[in-house]
Amino acid sequence: MTERLDRARILAGQHGIDALLVTPGADLRYLTGYAAKPLERLTCLVVTQLGCHLVVPALERAAAEASGVEVPIVTFGETDDPYAVVADLVGRADVVAVDDQMWASRVFALQEAFPETGFVLGGQLVSDLRTVKEDSEVEALREAGAAIDRVHARMGEWLRPGRTEREVGADIAAAILAEGHEQVDFVIVGSGPNGASPHHEVSDRVINAGEPVVVDIGGTTAKGYCSDSTRNYVVGGEPDPGYLAMLTVLQQAQQAQREHARPGVTAESVDAVGRRIIADAGYGELFIHRTGHGIGQETHEEPYIVEGNTLELEPGMAFSIEPGIYVEGQWGARIEDIVVCTEDGIEVLNNQPRDLVRL
Ligand code: ZN
Ligand code: ZN
Ligand code: ZN
Repeated sequence: MTERLDRARILAGQHGIDALLVTPGADLRYLTGYAAKPLERLTCLVVTQLGCHLVVPALERAAAEASGVEVPIVTFGETDDPYAVVADLVGRADVVAVDDQMWASRVFALQEAFPETGFVLGGQLVSDLRTVKEDSEVEALREAGAAIDRVHARMGEWLRPGRTEREVGADIAAAILAEGHEQVDFVIVGSGPNGASPHHEVSDRVINAGEPVVVDIGGTTAKGYCSDSTRNYVVGGEPDPGYLAMLTVLQQAQQAQREHARPGVTAESVDAVGRRIIADAGYGELFIHRTGHGIGQETHEEPYIVEGNTLELEPGMAFSIEPGIYVEGQWGARIEDIVVCTEDGIEVLNNQPRDLVRL
């Protein structure tokens, strides 16, 4: 962890940032290992060129210590002004960076505590660190990928005609925990026309025989890393030939994207390779979202695999490849794998069949 803090400090210095202030959230957890709860009393990591401190309420010192943080802890009492404590640690500063998700009430309080100082967002700085995963993080993502694959492999236990999406979703959620996650992040069971809404979750709709079902699921493991994988199912019958033709195109696009992704190619080119195949087949207007998102301690983080992102992939970057085609009122399909950029290509962390799974 101290190594990550050192890198953050160096990066801050290069950007002319005198102090980086990080309140509870994924950035704090990444930098210190402390998964602090975002409560009303201030917890704030203070990174300056002189060193790092973690400001915590006195009554939370034990919790912070128990998390194993290697940063000196500075506490404040119930009636002290925590912002004055932060200001003391920072000293004179021209530019202070705050984490992107800091509460507005805290930003305003800090601005009052530093009346002469310019404030900037520090999220990009931490994101630049988080985007390239260390080996231990890749291993944690690999475990998360295997865990969600085991849930997909068991889909036949729950997905049956006559059951509602909500009933199936509840069983899936239990299995997400049983197969090695500590938390269920989302369960999407989109049957028939509901599959056409990419962020549909579950509903009381009864799943009918022969209807395509999009299942997109993810959770967070005890190590704090996320899984996210989508597969397409049909139960108790054959779907419409029009759907099957569409799914074939989607499979070709997703495969082409996996074959294209490697160090040195841009994030947007991964999107373009699949989008072209889908457009050439006449479904271009129906691929209504970007190809993917980075993943790590959060399900959605950088790098985003989207037109306009000219970032070149580097070994250690982890992201989803998840093209989808959505026909309103009828059905939808999405194929999603998490992949990690390696020295000469990618490692695919989700390996359940990408073909239509017939149950
Ligand atoms: Zn999404
Ligand atoms: Zn995703
Ligand atoms: Zn997903």
